[in-house]
Amino acid sequence: MATSYTTCPNCRTQNPGTFQNCTNCGAFMGVGAPMQQSPQMQSKPVGADKKIAAGLCGILLGGLGIHKFILGYQQEGIILLSVYLISFIIAIVTCGIGTPLILIPTVIGIVEGVIYLTKSDEEFVQTYVIGKKPWF
Ligand SMILES: [Zn+2]
Repeated sequence: MATSYTTCPNCRTQNPGTFQNCTNCGAFMGVGAPMQQSPQMQSKPVGADKKIAAGLCGILLGGLGIHKFILGYQQEGIILLSVYLISFIIAIVTCGIGTPLILIPTVIGIVEGVIYLTKSDEEFVQTYVIGKKPWF
């Protein structure tokens, strides 16, 4: 079985197929070498798998900030959870008058969840995984 070799365009050295740079002169040899990449990694950008989970958690459990933790936004998650718990306590203390306050973190979660789900995988990764946009 013959091993694939790539000929360096600079010094004509035969390099094994796994090298992208010439072993003799270090020149870049381009895409001649076969890359070991799984098809899954190529079709989906890294972090896109969090989109559905974060989106659904935002919509269903929005006020608890779970979707923030999924995205790695610890601070924002804690803020949302705190607002939710404080609203909950206020609602109890005020015998239910303060209940609408709980809607605030809940609505934030639903809106963010819907935004996540309506974005494409690429947009989602660009905005929230790479860009680390904290809110919305
Ligand atoms: Zn070379």
